[in-house]
Order: sequence, then C-alpha cells, then structure tokens
Amino acid sequence: MNAQHLDTLPQINGAPSTVETTVDQARQLFNTGVTKPLAWRLQQLKAMNSMVLDHTEDFTAALAADLGKHPSEAWLTEIGFITAEIAHTVKHLEAWLTPRKVSVPLALQPAQASTVLEPLGVVLVIAPWNYPLQLLLAPMVGALAAGNTVVGKPSELAPATSAALARWVPDYLDGAVTIIEGGVPETTELLEQRFDHIFYTGNGRVGRIVMAAAAKNLTPVTLELGGKSPVYIDDTVDMITAARRIAWGKFMNAGQTCVAPDYVLGTDSALAKLAKELPLAIEELYGTEPAHSLAYGRIINDDAFARITGLLAKDLADDAGSALVSGGRTDAATRYIEPTVIHVDAQAHLMQDEIFGPVLPLVTVASAQEAINFIQGRDKPLAVYVFSDDKGVRQDFTEQTTSGALNFGVPAAHLFVPGLPFGGVGESGIGSYHGHHSIETFSHRKAILDKPLAPDTMSLIYPPFGSLKKQVIKRFVAPAKKFRKD
Ligand code: NAD
Repeated sequence: MNAQHLDTLPQINGAPSTVETTVDQARQLFNTGVTKPLAWRLQQLKAMNSMVLDHTEDFTAALAADLGKHPSEAWLTEIGFITAEIAHTVKHLEAWLTPRKVSVPLALQPAQASTVLEPLGVVLVIAPWNYPLQLLLAPMVGALAAGNTVVGKPSELAPATSAALARWVPDYLDGAVTIIEGGVPETTELLEQRFDHIFYTGNGRVGRIVMAAAAKNLTPVTLELGGKSPVYIDDTVDMITAARRIAWGKFMNAGQTCVAPDYVLGTDSALAKLAKELPLAIEELYGTEPAHSLAYGRIINDDAFARITGLLAKDLADDAGSALVSGGRTDAATRYIEPTVIHVDAQAHLMQDEIFGPVLPLVTVASAQEAINFIQGRDKPLAVYVFSDDKGVRQDFTEQTTSGALNFGVPAAHLFVPGLPFGGVGESGIGSYHGHHSIETFSHRKAILDKPLAPDTMSLIYPPFGSLKKQVIKRFVAPAKKFRKD
C-alpha cells in the first residue's frame, strides 16, 4: 500500500510533520486572510481542474487498479464529474457570494440588513473507497470555493487513487489542500484536532464516531451516509427502458454506489415483467459474459466479496422462497460477482442491510401503498426511485415517503444536476452539498444590521415605559396577531 503514514508526512519547513502540525499550517494559512478573495478561490478551483486534466491517465489507471473501473465510467462518475462541478462553481461563484439584502421592519428603520457568506476556516474531508476521487474532490470544490483551507483524508481501501491524490495535490493546491493518507489510526488522530467543519462520506458506524469527535469542539458536520435505496415499479411503465435504467444504476461500479437501487418492490405482475427484462438489459450493458466486459467492475476487497457472496449463498440455501432470476456466478480470485437478480421475501438476509454489491433482490408487494408502508417502516433512505406513470402513485410517494432524494424514472442521475442538493436524511445522512448547496454548507451566513445613530428612533422603545411607548412596542416593534381557528 502506498499510504503516507504519520512518520513520513510531508516535510514542512524542513521538520517532520505530524497531523497536528498539518492542521496547524492549514489554520495559519487561513488566518492570513489570503483565502478570502474571490480570485484565490477561483485560482484553487482552476488548479484542481488542471490537476485532474493533466493527470487524467494516472487517475484513470488508479481507479482501474482499485475498482476495475472502465475509463469512460471513471470519466462519467469521477474525473468529468469533478470538472463539471468546478465549471458550474466557477461560473456562478461570484453571484452566490453576493451579499443578500433583507428587509427591515418599519419600527427599526432607518437601517439596512443583509447577509454575507464567510468561510468557516479549516475543513476536514474524509472520503470512502467506492468513488475515491469524486468523493474526496467534490466536497473540496465547495470548501475551497467558500474560502476555506482543507485537509483531505482519502480511503485506505482505494490505495492507488489515494496515492495518486497524494502525488499530485501538493503540485497544484499546495497549502490550500493537504492530503493525509492512512487508515483508522490516522483518521482517529485527525479527529482529535479542532476543525471548523468535518465532511464525512461513508458508513453510519464511522459516521457516529465522526460526530462524537466533532461534538467535543462543537464542530459542525456533514455526514453523507448510505443505506438501502428502494425502487418501486408498476405495470404502467415501459418495462424495457425501466429495466435498462435500473440495471445501469445498480450494476455501475459493480453495485458499490451509495445511491444504487438496493432492491425493487413491485406487484407480482410488474416484477414478473421486470424479471424477464432485467437479464436482457444486463446482457445489453455487459454482454453474455460480464466477467469479460471491460465495462464491469470488481468488488473492492476480499472482505466485501465474502460478505456479499455470503448473503447470496445464505438466501439461496434457505427455504424461504428465494429464487435466482439471473446471474449468481462468482470468482473469488478476481473478486468478480456476476450481475445478479433474485426474488426474495422481506425477511431475506439480503434485505437486512445495505447490499453494496451487484445483487438485486425483487420483493413482492400487493400495492403501491404496501410499498410505501414498507419504506416508511425502515430507515429513511438516501434515495427512493419510482417507476410509475400513475399520477396518484407518484403523488403518494412524494407525500408519504421521506428520503435524501426522490427520482421518477431514473436512479442515481440526480447527482448530475448541480442545482439539486445531494445528501441524506436520518440514517442516510445529515446535510447536503453540490453546487451552491456546497457554498452554504462550507460557509457561515452572517447577519449584518447597520442602523445610523441619527435619528435615534430606538429611543421609542427605551425605558422608562409610558403608555405611548407601550403602544409603539405592541403595535409596531413586536406586534401580536390573533389567528382565527378554522
Ligand atoms: P471506508 O471504509 O473507506 O471508510 C470511509 C472513511 O472512514 C475512510 O477514509 C476511513 O479511513 C475512515 N474510517 C474507517 N473506519 C474508521 C474509524 N474507526 N474511525 C475513523 N475513521 C474511520 O468506506 P465505507 O464506509 O465502507 O463506505 C461505504 C459506505 O459509504 C456505504 O454505506 C455507502 O452507502 C456510503 N457512501 C455514501 C455516499 C454518499 O454520498 N452519501 C457515497 C459513497 C458511499
């Protein structure tokens, strides 16, 4: 592994660095005020853009080494994703940073009120392994655009990408971003430092560790977590296109996507049609032998391979009504799991936790309402995907389910709409980012009130209170309205 451990951290002023001094340096740079002007922020974003474009080949090779990612998928979901996020931010940043006027009540006039965005300080970004480039750099786009300095901790489980980031970031973002490689000990030491915001993407167990550490310094957190994102499908849709889209969202990155459809709910007849179309859709995407398709990824490591294949084997061994629809072949040596579709019931092993692999369970429900009840009875998902042309069904899902995102007709694609906030709710996360939502996440919106000293209209509310002042206070400064009960 290429991890840069504590004893070999970058040299700062000739002395061996520690996590503590790295954070300290980031704070010192922030405290100089150099990060605040728009020009500095744009310069960092453009430098990050150059970094990923100048070294696209290196990053692509690293993503292939870590996850068997095809170069086109690496561009779509990692490298090009970042350049698009940067382009959108560069285009709009000045407008997003413009102070917003706020109206002042009559009783306080003359005065002017506004809000301004100010950077928070030093931001820690902790990334997972499944989109190891995107999930480290996309939050950094927001953090730098908001005028912060950043310490980035890539995932040790994607060592090639982690090493590529450590290799190139100092050349392009020196000081603005420092990469700390390593695993749990390094992250633990990082979490002992005081940051002004911690942005964590990964699982809920570590999310709780991050939040507990942040609480010690009252540091705000964004937690981008996972969970089981359901699909509901009925008979009203074009099943061929629906199957293709579900297969695309599910089997991209070999199912290791936080917003991948985790399982599908549908009536018997809808699932029967879908079960017929899904194997054809999978064949269209990856051929008859996905093991030979360059477009199909691999499982990140042996533990994850054992976990996913174990769940599949248990459900197939149980007499609980599980039935394989397609796929199911695996190869431990190459950590290959064939795109797999399986009928299960709600008690199946596959239905307990996020699958995070290329196995798609189909679960029968009697109706859309039963699907809604099923979703409501579980943790709030990162995304809910509905395939239905029935207006009433679409409305019911909108009103009766809660999730980070609700997509009709397509899984995962909301990530590519930069104006939409990306984040979870409840067990699937806290806070959101992308586009201008990132700027709000990584800034403090400061309230500013400016009231001239003359004329001193405030004297109308100073003690001592006579009947005139009482009237003024009650009528104009702090009025009360009675609402009719209807
Ligand atoms: P991971 O194992 O790479 O962990 C993420 C980060 O946490 C790593 O940098 C790691 O060093 C650190 N970490 C691990 N254990 C730690 C500990 N005990 N203390 C401190 N830090 C620790 O990634 P993962 O958690 O396996 O990622 C998969 C999960 O992430 C899935 O649940 C997935 O749904 C979720 N995810 C969410 C999003 C999102 O945007 N919401 C995106 C991708 C993945």
